Amino acid sequence: MREVPRPDYEYQIERIVSEYTRAMYRISAELQRLDLTDMSRANAAAALAEVVRILTELNETSSEWVTRNLPIAATDGVAGTIYALGVADTFEEARKIAKFNRINKAMVDAVIADTQSDLLAVTANVERKVRAAVRQATAESMRANMARGVNGRRTVNRDILDGVRKKLGDSVNTGIIDAAGRKWKPEVYVDMVTRTKTMEAHMEATINEAVARDALYGVISRHGAKDNCRLYEGKTVKLVPNAPGPYPYLGNLRGGRDVFHPNCRHVVSPIRKPPDAN
Ligand SMILES: [Zn+2]
Repeated sequence: MREVPRPDYEYQIERIVSEYTRAMYRISAELQRLDLTDMSRANAAAALAEVVRILTELNETSSEWVTRNLPIAATDGVAGTIYALGVADTFEEARKIAKFNRINKAMVDAVIADTQSDLLAVTANVERKVRAAVRQATAESMRANMARGVNGRRTVNRDILDGVRKKLGDSVNTGIIDAAGRKWKPEVYVDMVTRTKTMEAHMEATINEAVARDALYGVISRHGAKDNCRLYEGKTVKLVPNAPGPYPYLGNLRGGRDVFHPNCRHVVSPIRKPPDAN
Protein backbone atom coordinates (compact mmCIF):
# COMPACT_ATOMS: atom_id res chain seq x y z
CA MET A 1 0.00 0.00 0.00
CA ARG A 2 1.21 3.48 -0.88
CA GLU A 3 0.73 6.22 1.65
CA VAL A 4 -0.21 9.80 1.00
CA PRO A 5 2.93 11.80 1.89
CA ARG A 6 2.38 13.70 5.10
CA PRO A 7 1.96 17.37 4.24
CA ASP A 8 4.19 19.89 5.96
CA TYR A 9 3.18 23.54 5.95
CA GLU A 10 5.14 24.51 9.06
CA TYR A 11 7.27 27.09 7.29
CA GLN A 12 4.31 28.87 5.73
CA ILE A 13 2.30 28.71 8.96
CA GLU A 14 5.19 30.15 10.95
CA ARG A 15 5.40 33.00 8.48
CA ILE A 16 1.76 34.03 8.78
CA VAL A 17 1.78 33.59 12.56
CA SER A 18 4.82 35.85 12.84
CA GLU A 19 3.00 38.49 10.77
CA TYR A 20 0.29 38.51 13.47
CA THR A 21 2.82 38.55 16.29
CA ARG A 22 4.60 41.49 14.70
CA ALA A 23 1.37 43.41 14.06
CA MET A 24 0.19 42.91 17.67
CA TYR A 25 3.57 44.07 18.91
CA ARG A 26 3.35 47.21 16.77
CA ILE A 27 -0.15 47.93 18.05
CA SER A 28 0.99 47.48 21.67
CA ALA A 29 3.88 49.86 21.07
CA GLU A 30 1.47 52.39 19.56
CA LEU A 31 -0.80 52.18 22.62
CA GLN A 32 2.10 52.40 25.05
CA ARG A 33 3.17 55.67 23.46
CA LEU A 34 -0.10 57.29 24.53
CA ASP A 35 0.35 59.77 27.35
CA LEU A 36 -2.43 58.63 29.62
CA THR A 37 -2.06 61.59 31.96
CA ASP A 38 -2.84 64.06 29.24
CA MET A 39 -4.78 62.51 26.43
CA SER A 40 -6.79 64.40 23.86
CA ARG A 41 -9.31 63.15 21.37
CA ALA A 42 -6.80 64.04 18.67
CA ASN A 43 -4.12 61.80 20.27
CA ALA A 44 -6.62 58.99 20.53
CA ALA A 45 -7.77 59.40 16.92
CA ALA A 46 -4.19 59.41 15.64
CA ALA A 47 -3.33 56.24 17.57
CA LEU A 48 -6.49 54.49 16.36
CA ALA A 49 -5.77 55.47 12.76
CA GLU A 50 -2.36 53.85 13.05
CA VAL A 51 -3.88 50.72 14.61
CA VAL A 52 -6.41 50.48 11.78
CA ARG A 53 -3.61 50.88 9.24
CA ILE A 54 -1.65 48.02 10.83
CA LEU A 55 -4.72 45.77 10.91
CA THR A 56 -5.67 46.58 7.31
CA GLU A 57 -2.18 45.66 6.17
CA LEU A 58 -2.41 42.45 8.19
CA ASN A 59 -5.76 41.56 6.58
CA GLU A 60 -4.21 42.00 3.14
CA THR A 61 -1.24 39.82 4.03
CA SER A 62 -3.41 37.06 5.44
CA SER A 63 -5.81 37.19 2.51
CA GLU A 64 -2.89 36.64 0.14
CA TRP A 65 -1.62 33.83 2.33
CA VAL A 66 -4.97 32.05 2.32
CA THR A 67 -5.58 32.32 -1.43
CA ARG A 68 -2.09 31.06 -2.11
CA ASN A 69 -1.61 28.30 0.47
CA LEU A 70 -4.99 26.57 0.71
CA PRO A 71 -5.01 25.65 -3.01
CA ILE A 72 -1.48 24.28 -2.54
CA ALA A 73 -2.70 22.09 0.34
CA ALA A 74 -5.64 20.89 -1.77
CA THR A 75 -3.36 20.14 -4.72
CA ASP A 76 -1.15 18.09 -2.40
CA GLY A 77 -4.26 16.17 -1.33
CA VAL A 78 -5.30 15.43 -4.92
CA ALA A 79 -1.73 14.43 -5.79
CA GLY A 80 -1.55 12.26 -2.67
CA THR A 81 -4.55 10.28 -3.88
CA ILE A 82 -3.19 9.96 -7.43
CA TYR A 83 0.04 8.64 -5.97
CA ALA A 84 -1.57 6.39 -3.34
CA LEU A 85 -3.82 4.77 -5.95
CA GLY A 86 -0.85 4.09 -8.20
CA VAL A 87 -1.99 6.36 -11.04
CA ALA A 88 1.44 8.04 -10.96
CA ASP A 89 4.76 6.51 -9.96
CA THR A 90 6.00 9.33 -7.80
CA PHE A 91 4.37 12.05 -5.78
CA GLU A 92 6.13 14.71 -7.90
CA GLU A 93 4.65 13.20 -11.02
CA ALA A 94 1.25 13.05 -9.34
CA ARG A 95 1.52 16.74 -8.45
CA LYS A 96 2.10 17.62 -12.10
CA ILE A 97 -1.12 15.96 -13.22
CA ALA A 98 -3.20 16.95 -10.19
CA LYS A 99 -6.23 19.06 -11.13
CA PHE A 100 -9.27 20.10 -9.15
CA ASN A 101 -12.47 18.35 -10.18
CA ARG A 102 -15.74 20.23 -9.80
CA ILE A 103 -16.27 19.20 -6.20
CA ASN A 104 -12.74 20.13 -5.25
CA LYS A 105 -13.02 23.52 -6.94
CA ALA A 106 -16.10 24.31 -4.88
CA MET A 107 -14.47 22.89 -1.75
CA VAL A 108 -11.33 25.03 -2.14
CA ASP A 109 -13.44 28.17 -2.63
CA ALA A 110 -15.43 27.32 0.49
CA VAL A 111 -12.38 26.64 2.68
CA ILE A 112 -10.76 29.85 1.48
CA ALA A 113 -13.89 31.85 2.34
CA ASP A 114 -14.15 30.12 5.72
CA THR A 115 -10.55 30.77 6.64
CA GLN A 116 -10.73 34.39 5.48
CA SER A 117 -13.71 35.01 7.71
CA ASP A 118 -12.05 33.28 10.70
CA LEU A 119 -8.97 35.46 10.28
CA LEU A 120 -10.97 38.65 9.69
CA ALA A 121 -12.81 37.95 12.94
CA VAL A 122 -9.46 38.14 14.76
CA THR A 123 -8.52 41.58 13.47
CA ALA A 124 -12.11 42.86 13.81
CA ASN A 125 -12.09 41.77 17.44
CA VAL A 126 -8.72 43.35 18.15
CA GLU A 127 -9.93 46.59 16.56
CA ARG A 128 -13.14 46.59 18.60
CA LYS A 129 -11.27 45.98 21.87
CA VAL A 130 -8.58 48.53 21.15
CA ARG A 131 -11.22 51.15 20.29
CA ALA A 132 -13.07 50.49 23.54
CA ALA A 133 -9.87 50.61 25.59
CA VAL A 134 -8.68 53.84 23.94
CA ARG A 135 -12.10 55.42 24.41
CA GLN A 136 -11.99 54.58 28.09
CA ALA A 137 -8.43 55.82 28.44
CA THR A 138 -9.38 59.12 26.81
CA ALA A 139 -12.40 59.54 29.06
CA GLU A 140 -10.42 58.77 32.23
CA SER A 141 -7.64 61.12 31.25
CA MET A 142 -9.95 63.99 30.32
CA ARG A 143 -11.99 63.54 33.48
CA ALA A 144 -8.86 63.61 35.63
CA ASN A 145 -7.63 66.74 33.93
CA MET A 146 -10.99 68.41 34.34
CA ALA A 147 -10.73 67.69 38.08
CA ARG A 148 -7.22 69.12 38.07
CA GLY A 149 -8.61 72.35 36.66
CA VAL A 150 -10.97 72.56 39.61
CA ASN A 151 -8.56 71.85 42.47
CA GLY A 152 -5.29 72.78 40.78
CA ARG A 153 -3.57 69.43 41.38
CA ARG A 154 -2.80 66.52 39.15
CA THR A 155 -5.31 63.93 40.22
CA VAL A 156 -4.72 61.15 37.74
CA ASN A 157 -4.94 58.33 40.16
CA ARG A 158 -2.21 55.66 39.98
CA ASP A 159 -4.76 52.82 40.20
CA ILE A 160 -6.81 54.26 37.38
CA LEU A 161 -3.69 54.68 35.25
CA ASP A 162 -2.65 51.09 35.90
CA GLY A 163 -6.15 49.85 35.16
CA VAL A 164 -6.28 51.75 31.87
CA ARG A 165 -2.79 50.59 30.96
CA LYS A 166 -3.83 46.97 31.60
CA LYS A 167 -7.01 47.34 29.53
CA LEU A 168 -4.99 48.71 26.65
CA GLY A 169 -2.60 45.76 26.88
CA ASP A 170 -5.38 43.19 27.15
CA SER A 171 -7.15 44.66 24.15
CA VAL A 172 -4.32 43.40 21.93
CA ASN A 173 -4.00 40.04 23.66
CA THR A 174 -7.45 38.64 23.17
CA GLY A 175 -7.86 37.75 19.54
CA ILE A 176 -10.91 35.61 19.84
CA ILE A 177 -13.16 34.02 22.44
CA ASP A 178 -14.41 30.69 21.11
CA ALA A 179 -17.76 28.97 21.60
CA ALA A 180 -16.41 27.24 24.72
CA GLY A 181 -15.47 30.63 26.22
CA ARG A 182 -11.72 30.09 25.83
CA LYS A 183 -9.64 33.19 25.12
CA TRP A 184 -7.08 32.90 22.34
CA LYS A 185 -4.19 35.24 21.79
CA PRO A 186 -4.35 36.37 18.15
CA GLU A 187 -1.18 34.58 17.05
CA VAL A 188 -2.10 31.33 18.82
CA TYR A 189 -5.55 31.35 17.26
CA VAL A 190 -4.15 32.10 13.82
CA ASP A 191 -1.69 29.22 14.21
CA MET A 192 -4.56 26.84 15.03
CA VAL A 193 -6.83 28.13 12.26
CA THR A 194 -4.26 28.03 9.47
CA ARG A 195 -2.94 24.63 10.56
CA THR A 196 -6.41 23.14 10.82
CA LYS A 197 -7.68 24.66 7.56
CA THR A 198 -4.67 23.58 5.47
CA MET A 199 -5.15 20.04 6.80
CA GLU A 200 -8.87 20.25 6.08
CA ALA A 201 -8.27 21.40 2.49
CA HIS A 202 -5.74 18.60 2.10
CA MET A 203 -8.04 15.91 3.44
CA GLU A 204 -11.16 17.08 1.61
CA ALA A 205 -9.21 17.13 -1.65
CA THR A 206 -7.79 13.67 -0.94
CA ILE A 207 -11.25 12.23 -0.31
CA ASN A 208 -12.96 13.95 -3.25
CA GLU A 209 -10.29 12.79 -5.66
CA ALA A 210 -10.41 9.25 -4.23
CA VAL A 211 -14.19 8.94 -4.49
CA ALA A 212 -14.08 10.32 -8.05
CA ARG A 213 -11.64 7.48 -8.80
CA ASP A 214 -13.89 4.87 -7.15
CA ALA A 215 -11.69 4.40 -4.10
CA LEU A 216 -14.17 4.35 -1.22
CA TYR A 217 -11.86 3.40 1.65
CA GLY A 218 -8.82 4.83 3.35
CA VAL A 219 -6.25 4.04 6.01
CA ILE A 220 -5.38 6.53 8.75
CA SER A 221 -1.67 7.39 8.91
CA ARG A 222 0.61 6.51 11.84
CA HIS A 223 3.23 8.68 13.45
CA GLY A 224 3.11 7.40 17.01
CA ALA A 225 0.57 9.96 18.23
CA LYS A 226 0.35 10.41 21.98
CA ASP A 227 -3.17 11.84 22.10
CA ASN A 228 -6.45 9.99 21.46
CA CYS A 229 -5.59 9.86 17.76
CA ARG A 230 -3.34 6.91 18.58
CA LEU A 231 -6.42 4.68 18.88
CA TYR A 232 -7.15 5.34 15.20
CA GLU A 233 -3.70 4.99 13.68
CA GLY A 234 -3.63 2.36 10.93
CA LYS A 235 -7.42 1.93 11.02
CA THR A 236 -9.43 1.42 7.83
CA VAL A 237 -12.28 3.86 7.27
CA LYS A 238 -15.03 4.42 4.71
CA LEU A 239 -14.76 7.61 2.70
CA VAL A 240 -18.49 7.61 1.94
CA PRO A 241 -21.16 6.46 4.41
CA ASN A 242 -22.77 3.88 2.10
CA ALA A 243 -19.60 1.93 1.17
CA PRO A 244 -20.03 -1.73 2.17
CA GLY A 245 -18.19 -3.20 5.14
CA PRO A 246 -17.97 -2.77 8.91
CA TYR A 247 -15.66 0.25 8.86
CA PRO A 248 -16.32 3.55 10.56
CA TYR A 249 -17.28 6.40 8.25
CA LEU A 250 -14.49 8.99 8.15
CA GLY A 251 -16.99 11.85 8.14
CA ASN A 252 -18.25 10.76 11.55
CA LEU A 253 -14.75 10.70 13.02
CA ARG A 254 -13.72 14.13 11.81
CA GLY A 255 -14.06 17.24 13.89
CA GLY A 256 -14.59 15.16 16.99
CA ARG A 257 -12.49 15.27 20.10
CA ASP A 258 -10.52 12.15 19.30
CA VAL A 259 -9.15 11.96 15.79
CA PHE A 260 -8.89 14.84 13.29
CA HIS A 261 -9.25 17.41 16.04
CA PRO A 262 -7.91 20.95 15.53
CA ASN A 263 -4.12 20.85 14.97
CA CYS A 264 -4.29 17.11 14.11
CA ARG A 265 -1.60 15.92 11.70
CA HIS A 266 -3.09 12.63 10.60
CA VAL A 267 -3.88 11.99 6.96
CA VAL A 268 -5.85 9.28 5.19
CA SER A 269 -4.43 7.22 2.34
CA PRO A 270 -7.16 6.11 -0.07
CA ILE A 271 -7.41 2.45 -1.06
CA ARG A 272 -9.77 0.71 -3.49
CA LYS A 273 -10.38 -2.36 -1.34
CA PRO A 274 -10.26 -2.64 2.42
CA PRO A 275 -7.33 -4.86 3.52
CA ASP A 276 -9.40 -7.86 4.57
CA ALA A 277 -11.79 -7.89 1.60
CA ASN A 278 -11.27 -10.80 -0.83
ZN1 LIG B 1 -4.26 13.25 14.88
